[in-house]
Amino acid sequence: DASLYARIARAAAAAGDRPLLIEDGRVTLAWAELDAATAAWAAALARAGARPGDRIVVQVEKSAANVLLYLAALRAGLVYVPLNTAYTVDELAYFLADADPSVVVVDPSRAEAVGGLTGATVLTLDAAGGGIETPPAAFETVPRAPDDLAAILYTSGTTGRSKGAMLSQDNLASNAEALVALWRFTQDDVLIHALPIYHVHGLFVALHCVLLSGAAIRFHAAFDANRVLAEMAESTVLMGVPTFYVRLAAHPGLTRAAAANMRLFVSGSAPLLESTFAEFEAKTGHRILERYGMTEAGMITSNPYAGDRVPGTVGYPLPGVEARIVDEVLQIRGPNLFKGYWRNPEKTAEDMREGGWFATGDIATMAPDGRVAITGRAKDLIIAGGLNIYPKEIELAIDAIPGIGESAVIGVPHPDLGEAVVAVCTRNGEVDEAEVLAAIQGLARFKQPRRVLFTDALPRNAMGKVQKAELRKMHAALFA
Ligand code: ATP
Ligand code: MG
Repeated sequence: DASLYARIARAAAAAGDRPLLIEDGRVTLAWAELDAATAAWAAALARAGARPGDRIVVQVEKSAANVLLYLAALRAGLVYVPLNTAYTVDELAYFLADADPSVVVVDPSRAEAVGGLTGATVLTLDAAGGGIETPPAAFETVPRAPDDLAAILYTSGTTGRSKGAMLSQDNLASNAEALVALWRFTQDDVLIHALPIYHVHGLFVALHCVLLSGAAIRFHAAFDANRVLAEMAESTVLMGVPTFYVRLAAHPGLTRAAAANMRLFVSGSAPLLESTFAEFEAKTGHRILERYGMTEAGMITSNPYAGDRVPGTVGYPLPGVEARIVDEVLQIRGPNLFKGYWRNPEKTAEDMREGGWFATGDIATMAPDGRVAITGRAKDLIIAGGLNIYPKEIELAIDAIPGIGESAVIGVPHPDLGEAVVAVCTRNGEVDEAEVLAAIQGLARFKQPRRVLFTDALPRNAMGKVQKAELRKMHAALFA
């Protein structure tokens, strides 16, 4: 059996009576209980009518029960399709029609509305993990081939409509095994898990590193800096989006002593500011390990565990993953690469290149030794007066100005130029538009923003990604 679940079962067999899930200081699931718990949940899904190969769409609050539901779906040979809890019922209509599931699991508050959108069986799971009957049951794990689908994950929708990425058993298992080795996970690790579990970062990267190594999880329903700081003394690894590290670095409780038991801090899903990296190191002595990935390929590059972790870079391709740069865009191939966009062969063809290479849509540079730096997204490219402008270069220049917190540079419709460069910034000191413009005279005139606007906070999604489409919408009439 080449399935991901079979590998998790092997880790369980080796984990003995160690804890798997710890919530509020209590062990709520031991490794030794995993087999019986997932069997009960898998039997419940089979009773609801889910057959191997069927999609199961899940939009529920984060809970330990949600983790068991995911593992049960794997065990039952289903294709797991988690959805961002922020999506409204209206938005769910698109995902339900697209994923075409046989079973849907939602919060009880949505059961009725969702029932009207789908012919699938609707089950409910509340924030406390209640709602599905899971009496003890025997369940025989459904064997899977390496190329069988394990999940369809929708992309975050940062650059356009979310696309369903088809991920196979081997996509997930090979990537998880590479990370366990690279980041040196063992049974002695305790991971603080405060990420959502509908996205590749929290669902695959964080959970799988534990599930394949026999380690333990301190399970947080949401990120709370106080709780994370309080539990660091009994933990070894934190995985977070950059926002976690910004908030921790601003917290008076972040000290060398507080982080003394920790061995690894990982950041990803959005770019980590170099200032955050530096502040975190100054306060804790830890150099945050930044890695890069995407829904379509899981993790792609990582800064080294033992070698130098360089801020502003995302390190080297994972073992087995190849990377190259063509026309400034990073292309990749390897066992982590997805099987295409669900029911969307046109979009798949658009992004695939000869020889199995996939164009990530991220603009990057690669040093002679293979170290990668992400310098922007192709879709963020601004064309002003016919000239190509990459926002990241301007953002880096603005971020270095005293008084600036962070910045996002966007293109806004302009009667003369087509698009005009506009910077939207947050402040942590006193600085105004004229001072920002004066400070970036080192940039070519055509790259300098026409306007510098200030805001209290940049719009971000739960993964810490700046929502540039929203910013462009907000400022669309600036030059009208
Ligand atoms: P969509 O594809 O729908 O527009 P998305 O690309 O934001 O949304 P995800 O798959 O969640 O959806 O995110 C992957 C993207 O996140 C990468 O392509 C890259 O742009 C960005 N990313 C992830 N990690 C990093 C990092 N460490 N530094 C910079 N960017 C990162
Ligand atoms: Mg993407």
